[in-house]
Amino acid sequence: MLDYCVIGSGISGSSIANYLNKKNYSVKVFDKANGLGGRSSYKRFKGKIGFDHGLQYISPKTKEFKNFTKLLIKKRILKQWKGKHSFINTKVKENKKHVKLIGYSGNNSISKFLLKNIKYQLKYELLNIKREKNIWNLYFINNKKITAKNLIVTAPFPQSKKLLSKFVKKNLFKSKVKINSAITVLVITNKTKNKLSSFFTNDNTLGWVSNENSKKRFKFKKDLWVLQSTFNYGKLHINKYKKNKKYYTHVLINKFKNLTKVKIKKIYFTHIHGWKYSSNSLPLKNYSYWDKKIGLGICADWFGGPRLENGWLSARDLYKKICNKT
Ligand SMILES: Cc1cc2nc3c(=O)[nH]c(=O)nc-3n(C[C@H](O)[C@H](O)[C@H](O)COP(=O)(O)OP(=O)(O)OC[C@H]3O[C@@H](n4cnc5c(N)ncnc54)[C@H](O)[C@@H]3O)c2cc1C
Repeated sequence: MLDYCVIGSGISGSSIANYLNKKNYSVKVFDKANGLGGRSSYKRFKGKIGFDHGLQYISPKTKEFKNFTKLLIKKRILKQWKGKHSFINTKVKENKKHVKLIGYSGNNSISKFLLKNIKYQLKYELLNIKREKNIWNLYFINNKKITAKNLIVTAPFPQSKKLLSKFVKKNLFKSKVKINSAITVLVITNKTKNKLSSFFTNDNTLGWVSNENSKKRFKFKKDLWVLQSTFNYGKLHINKYKKNKKYYTHVLINKFKNLTKVKIKKIYFTHIHGWKYSSNSLPLKNYSYWDKKIGLGICADWFGGPRLENGWLSARDLYKKICNKT
């Protein structure tokens, strides 16, 4: 039986698993996705060539997280995303002091690094939880059962609520956490003369464009782009896009061409993905949840804010609570 079963391999799950593993607890991570990293996933096209599908870059704010990222830069897990980051149709100017960090070989590099010595299982969706005789009985997809002394969940707010409502006594799940949705289109085009690394816009539909080649992780004779909708557009269309993927792909690509004026002659590949829980935040009073009586922990970005740093801070907070045995 495991000491700790961790659900989720994003920054929150990989960080808490890493902390607990260092304390010599037996830990295993389970994720329903096909790859590690959660919303910091890297979608591979061919070999090293790919797209940062969700999280785009990290700009550390707190001293603790800055120190953590410095360590990761030294270890060549993170690097700076250089180049010119442009703002279209807005008076906002790029803040050069605003550091943009990205994973060396994809933005899931941090999770991969943190889970290097930890067992994990992908395509394992937790469906049902029972607590019997002080043990967690966890029922996964395909009737797989795992038992653990302690359970830690790191899923987005609505998913955590669905799984854990009957075990969390406090008002945690009554909190009004704000959920934002976004639609992402990945595109491969002809090699363009574009010299910019990314574009922020003040458009209602397309909020952000990044040129993946500018991250210098690979060399390729074609250009790779990530187009992200605004939260407003995501909110209106997240439940409809699956039925008409062609249409939504077309809308975002047209906006991309019109706003950036990048000369696209040919499109070789497209992929569309909707992030229902792209960011989920409304800072709560506590940074994590720990019930030592039943051995249940929750850590995730949504405790503190909409960014990766909030997930890391939440995992750190939970670890401190577990160690203090409070
Ligand atoms: C499009 C987009 C752009 C973003 N841009 C930025 C940015 O530029 N900068 C920034 O700092 N942040 C950004 N973010 C937010 C950032 O990605 C998140 O804050 C961070 O990744 C959250 O990490 P987490 O570990 O808390 O959650 P997640 O990464 O969501 O991890 C939770 C994991 O739990 C798994 N899971 C859920 N339910 C189950 C279950 N029942 N069984 C098994 N596994 C389960 C999921 O598959 C997932 O892997 C962006 C997010 C998106 C979607």
